[in-house]
Amino acid sequence: MAVVEIRNLKKTFSGANAVESLNLTTEDGEFIVIVGPSGCGKSTTMRMIAGLEEVSGGSILIDGQDVTDLSPTERDVAMVFQNYALYPHLTVYDNMAFCLQVRKWPKARIDERVRAVAESLSLTPLLQRKPAALSGGQRQRVALGRAIVREPRIFIMDEPLSNLDAKLRVDMRGEITKLCRRLKVTTFYVTHDQLEALTMGHRIIVMRNGVAQQIDTPQRIYDEPVNRFVASFIGSPSMNFLEATVEGDGQILRGPGFQLRVSDRIARALKESSETKVVAGIRPEHLFPVADGDSAGGWVQGRIELVEPLGSQVMVQVMVGNSVIVAQFERQPGLDVGRAITLQHKTDAPHAFDVETERTVLAAAPAESPAALASA
Ligand code: ATP
Repeated sequence: MAVVEIRNLKKTFSGANAVESLNLTTEDGEFIVIVGPSGCGKSTTMRMIAGLEEVSGGSILIDGQDVTDLSPTERDVAMVFQNYALYPHLTVYDNMAFCLQVRKWPKARIDERVRAVAESLSLTPLLQRKPAALSGGQRQRVALGRAIVREPRIFIMDEPLSNLDAKLRVDMRGEITKLCRRLKVTTFYVTHDQLEALTMGHRIIVMRNGVAQQIDTPQRIYDEPVNRFVASFIGSPSMNFLEATVEGDGQILRGPGFQLRVSDRIARALKESSETKVVAGIRPEHLFPVADGDSAGGWVQGRIELVEPLGSQVMVQVMVGNSVIVAQFERQPGLDVGRAITLQHKTDAPHAFDVETERTVLAAAPAESPAALASA
């Protein structure tokens, strides 16, 4: 358990910025997920926190102590990587016991600890096997077990699930989340999978080109992305974007084949900024089909290009003006390629982004306080 403070953290490689001015203070026992596309600086950030990479600027404090120049061991950090890094010649038991033996723990204490952790990870029947005789998921559990036996202050996990198949990934995702919540060890977890980020993290850092774009809870990142990049990276299928003109005192976004009604908050921001053009953003899961006459609140009309069944749901590509957008809703009859379709969006669903800066138009308009609302 630890509070980690990251202050103005930077890393440059041969003059190029890999990580720029990262600032974050964790809660004790918080699960922080770092997510972003390949090369955005996720692993470099983790390696600096772990003490495997020298920082180019800034500092890292653990429970108030500056550890920027300390080794990984001195920081009391345990790491789990995608390649497991198990010792192939040692049994599961010895892999887990190894770091305790190095610390010269008494044998009986090591045995007690290893068996307790093995039991919690359902590894007891496998303790005498060697890594080669284990499945990918079992190996990953051993790697976790080896990190847990040490009772570290901090876990660092760098894409620990990326070698597993889809089903096992989902199972292990749940196991790791439950485990970390139970152990209350402050955890940094790197992934490029936005679903892992949304489901596992107390908070998510969304990175792009070495810069943290948004650090927030999964819900707020999904509901209130600060810019178009975060909006498109978090959420699956990705958010749809349509260039629109602002009409009706900021309340309506219009373009070829659509007319969207925005929330009062966005309308106020648009009115204040007096922008005439924005990029409208709508999540596919916020669109659903309606009969023509039902769509007074806002509508998107187009022709069905592709229908992809997803079991109980269906994903439909629709040509709207010159853009293809995606909608995802409950499976229903009559969705034929080439047919006209009218979609409505859920109340308050559309987002609006500045055409040039790509930032949300809400950036300059903080959420209304109750007092402000009362005086409005
Ligand atoms: P991935 O998801 O592909 O692992 P990442 O987000 O973890 O990517 P990093 O590995 O942190 O990205 O790399 C960030 C940037 O720093 C990249 O442009 C990478 O090429 C560069 N970089 C990383 N390590 C080094 C190094 N040792 N020397 C030079 N450049 C490096």
